[in-house]
Amino acid sequence: MTNATLLIVNCGSSSLKFALFDTTKGEFVADGIAQALGSKSANFSSNNAALDGHAETKQNVDIPHADHAQALSLCLKSLNETFDLEQSLVGVGHRVVHGGESFNSSIVINANVRKEIEKCSPLAPLHNPANLLGITLLEKRYPHLPQVAVFDTAYHQTMPQQAYRYAIPEKLYTELGVRRYGFHGTSHRYVAMATANSLAKPQTETSLICAHLGNGASVCAIANGESIDTSMGMTPLEGLVMGTRSGDIDPGVLPYLNNHGYSIDRIDKTLNKESGLLGLSNESNDMRTLTKLAENGHEGARLAIDVFCFRLAKYIAAMLVSIPNLDALVFTGGIGENSAHVRRQTSSHLKHLGFDLDTNANLENGDATQGVINTPSSRYKIMIIATDEERMIAQDTLNLITN
Ligand code: ADP
Repeated sequence: MTNATLLIVNCGSSSLKFALFDTTKGEFVADGIAQALGSKSANFSSNNAALDGHAETKQNVDIPHADHAQALSLCLKSLNETFDLEQSLVGVGHRVVHGGESFNSSIVINANVRKEIEKCSPLAPLHNPANLLGITLLEKRYPHLPQVAVFDTAYHQTMPQQAYRYAIPEKLYTELGVRRYGFHGTSHRYVAMATANSLAKPQTETSLICAHLGNGASVCAIANGESIDTSMGMTPLEGLVMGTRSGDIDPGVLPYLNNHGYSIDRIDKTLNKESGLLGLSNESNDMRTLTKLAENGHEGARLAIDVFCFRLAKYIAAMLVSIPNLDALVFTGGIGENSAHVRRQTSSHLKHLGFDLDTNANLENGDATQGVINTPSSRYKIMIIATDEERMIAQDTLNLITN
């Protein structure tokens, strides 16, 4: 008998990431990515795990000027070489970036859901149309298969007004939807679940500050399992210093730059693509590279890491306001899980607030993805938990299509 599988799709403006989840084994059995779609350098790579009678197969092919539809055909063809999708596929889970105020959880996609996702497109003009394109292509290919949308914003819909409203005229909120929505919700929700499991507590009684530190980065205050504050805002630009994003900046800088010849588009590009670790270091957006450079005396790299860790510590301290019964500060994401240096430098700013890092445990966990890294006398636990957004999407998809 063929095991049931779920296809997980993350369709971006010029990329299509996918993974195949085997619901019987409870694990991913294939994944891949088509990137630079629409350009000369478009490329497709995939990896199918070994299956009875099939060896592990890896593919890497250039697909110049291929579009999303061609990339999807290639993805399905490559999966079909090992897994009989016609027999096994029971559902598709899509990552959708913006659900606005319309969605507070994942949902099976129908015509109304599509319309609502479309209505949220002005809030995420680069992402939601691409997510919808993925949904349309899969619907054409498998019209009878249930498809589920899992939103980056949904988890944060529990935030109270005091956390999500900006102090600007009310009509900008009521007429244009200008408020804080928050992102990385799927990751923060997964980490909340995994932390509760690790502490052997019910999720509804577990409170944590989750620091998701990847190329994008955000902190989330999670009280008794629910998001009650987060550092990203109406867009994923607010908050922490990120790979190429500035995070918080005085809004007064924007008209100032505009008055000095920077167009709105140029400002947008500068703050999203040329700032953050890259802007400060003038060298790289990659924490691993910057750590090595800083060790070798590169001033810009050292400054970038200093600003990154200081801003992060400030946000963690700010999130403490919302959580009187904190269980743990949890580091996750590529930097959070792997950079002992960032965890140490950030914690050094927080020691007097009750976060006492055990430097040996922190180092030993440098390359590990799980662990408790505080001293026995620390008021709060400090932990590393590996995030797994794809697994969360698979789990939501499975729950929704089986109920
Ligand atoms: P994305 O947001 O694209 O999913 P990731 O979560 O993969 O990103 O995180 C990427 C970041 O993690 C990069 O800055 C990378 O340098 C950093 N990183 C990965 N491994 C290490 C490591 N061993 N030490 C320091 N930083 C690391």
